[in-house]
Amino acid sequence: MRPWYSFCSGIVAALLLAAGAGLSWAEEASPAKTTFAGQPVRPDDGKLGIIVFGAHPDDCEIRAGGVAALWTKAGHAVKLVSMTNGDIGHWQMAGGPLALRRNAEVQAAAKILGVTSEVLDIHDGELMPTLENRKLMTRLIRQWNADIVIGHRPNDYHPDHRYTGVLMQDTAYMVAVPFLCPDTPPLKKNPVFLYSFDNFKTPNPFRPDVVVAIDSVIDQKLDALATLESQFIEGGATGSAERVPKNEEERKAAFERLREGFRRRAANIADQCRAKLIDLYGEEQGKQVKYAEAFEICEYGRQPNKADLKKLFPLAP
Ligand SMILES: [Zn+2]
Repeated sequence: MRPWYSFCSGIVAALLLAAGAGLSWAEEASPAKTTFAGQPVRPDDGKLGIIVFGAHPDDCEIRAGGVAALWTKAGHAVKLVSMTNGDIGHWQMAGGPLALRRNAEVQAAAKILGVTSEVLDIHDGELMPTLENRKLMTRLIRQWNADIVIGHRPNDYHPDHRYTGVLMQDTAYMVAVPFLCPDTPPLKKNPVFLYSFDNFKTPNPFRPDVVVAIDSVIDQKLDALATLESQFIEGGATGSAERVPKNEEERKAAFERLREGFRRRAANIADQCRAKLIDLYGEEQGKQVKYAEAFEICEYGRQPNKADLKKLFPLAP
């Protein structure tokens, strides 16, 4: 039997194929497909449910790929959701063929991380904080039976990132209200909502409330990011023909640059958040952590204390 969650990814694949064939998704997709009403709910099996929202097919992997791999190793259920299909995220190609390609890339990354990945049928650059999208996200969180929800902060540079953050805030609390989206069972408890790391300062800088050491899975994370070639090897939306490797040697060098760049990024987060690492892991271990991912607790969801954090996050040495 197919696992229950594969039905959702099957729908997205069908939508992507329809788009590739030149059909309009909005016209062809039934309401059940576009709103996710009536989809199965992940059973209450004692495992943690973690759902990560990123605006584009790469944001979840960049910001939470390491902690996702750690959760998966501990037996928990992680789902990465891209709110848009990434169909303008390349300098040379766009539309259905790019959306198909980017979905295939994040599915390859998901295999490496051991997670479920879903790409929503919304155009890149056009995500809006509408009631329809609030309901869609509410259903996805409920269907994953989530204990933890992660998304962007609403003061990020990209409108799709900002509105992903706004939508996430709008679902906090509402996921437990039974008569919003009564087609999907409400959560019994409000999850912990978290913002993923960024460096934006206005109106307020990121506050590292939870910092997870990802040293043991850094190569797994880099392997996953290396599957996202349209973004990190070909240069994404602002790339150019000059950036695309022209031979095997240049290709090898491009992958090395990719790995080095993301390794440095994880090291910078560990250094920037050293005080919190020491607070959570203790003086000796906290000082030794090389690579990290960091999260800020959103005040609209459940407020975990330090003991809760140790249960919810893979913070064991
Ligand atoms: Zn993005």
